[in-house]
Amino acid sequence: QVSTNNLDAFWMPFTANRQFKQSPRMFVGAKDMHYTTSDGRQVLDGTAGLWCCNAGHCRPKIVEAVQAQVAEMDYAPAFQMGHPKAFELAARLSALMPSPLDHVFFTGSGSESVDTALKIALAYQRAIGQGTRTRLIGRERGYHGVGFGGISVGGIVNNRKTFGTMLTGVDHMRHTHDPARNAFSRGMPENGAEYAEDLIRIIQLHDPSTIAAVIVEPVAGSTGVLIPPKHYLERLREICDQHGILLIFDEVITGFGRLGTPFAVDYFGVTPDLVTTAKGLTSGVIPMGAVFCTKAIYDAFMHGPEHLIELFHGYTYSAHPIACAAALATLDTYEEEGLLTRAADIAQHWEDGLHSLKDCPNVIDIRNLGLIGAVELDPIAGEPTKRAFSAFLKAYDDGILIRTTGDIIALSPPLIISKDQIDELFGKLRTVLMTID
Ligand code: PMP
Repeated sequence: QVSTNNLDAFWMPFTANRQFKQSPRMFVGAKDMHYTTSDGRQVLDGTAGLWCCNAGHCRPKIVEAVQAQVAEMDYAPAFQMGHPKAFELAARLSALMPSPLDHVFFTGSGSESVDTALKIALAYQRAIGQGTRTRLIGRERGYHGVGFGGISVGGIVNNRKTFGTMLTGVDHMRHTHDPARNAFSRGMPENGAEYAEDLIRIIQLHDPSTIAAVIVEPVAGSTGVLIPPKHYLERLREICDQHGILLIFDEVITGFGRLGTPFAVDYFGVTPDLVTTAKGLTSGVIPMGAVFCTKAIYDAFMHGPEHLIELFHGYTYSAHPIACAAALATLDTYEEEGLLTRAADIAQHWEDGLHSLKDCPNVIDIRNLGLIGAVELDPIAGEPTKRAFSAFLKAYDDGILIRTTGDIIALSPPLIISKDQIDELFGKLRTVLMTID
């Protein structure tokens, strides 16, 4: 048993301490599809950690690469210096991302990737003589991390209302999710390009030549797996093009195989100007993010006329050698095992399993795409989040890890999940949903 004496010493991110202390849950080991709990139980991972361990846990090649790198060179600055693995990784990543998004900037997390992408977009507009373009547009229910940039463009009001002034000149498009319309949808809901017209509403509120960029998650993850209707992202792209606005896809969750293609860019066939990634880049082993953009945009940011005098951007841990080693071994694992497209092969089995929960009590919607899924529960009147949280606790006791957001159960297992494990996950989830109030 692990001691819980020092629970006051650590602030649990995302987790209400009071509630956690009542029933502490500790993981002490992980392998492939499972966690080991402090009381020695195996828990099937239905969430890839926190949408990040796409290759599964403690995969030998990645573990060995990290161990070898720690022994060889722990750290090297990315300031006035480089190291070969950073360039090798950048080359491999740009080959994976559809052209022309062939330039890469390394960060230490998803939040840093988002801040970096917003800064690049603003700097690029300025470098091409569009310095009046300072406004940024996000979307309701968008999640872009917890940096000031990310909470400003993010669509979760609670995450920013405590902190006073955010980035100024930020608007939020209405989100695309209509529970009645999406109820029990399979794959992408029907044509809904008109949702993108909300961008036009915002453009009309302001002079379009004041808008720098629009940022969206291709599929919103953390706020409950909100799958865009068909042609929505294409229409956003068209509107941005018409008005000289840059389009940023936040692929921190959708990147690295989640939808059955390497990136959502491939899945939707829509090419934005910038893409943010993190999580699956190192399969969660080491914190790392990467921002992708075109050469023209990158050059304006890093080598623009004003760069040497006023622009400085980079992190101490940009292109950290251990993170680069982990990412290279992760890419090897993805490639050797075909994981970046595996979700497409198994998506039907996943979809059938998920939709088999349709008749469980209190289920009001089910959504899925690739190896991502959501079961939305009817909230208990006056006690929002309670029902899904009870499901989470019961699931943990029954040996499956799920994630909840509000009254939505979100699922995104490692991409190595077998058909039998999918059956086990949904079999146990059915028992959970049948048992809780
Ligand atoms: N963007 C998206 C779409 C995310 O899902 C997340 C994390 N859930 C972030 C940004 C922030 O990433 P991090 O927690 O690594 O800062």
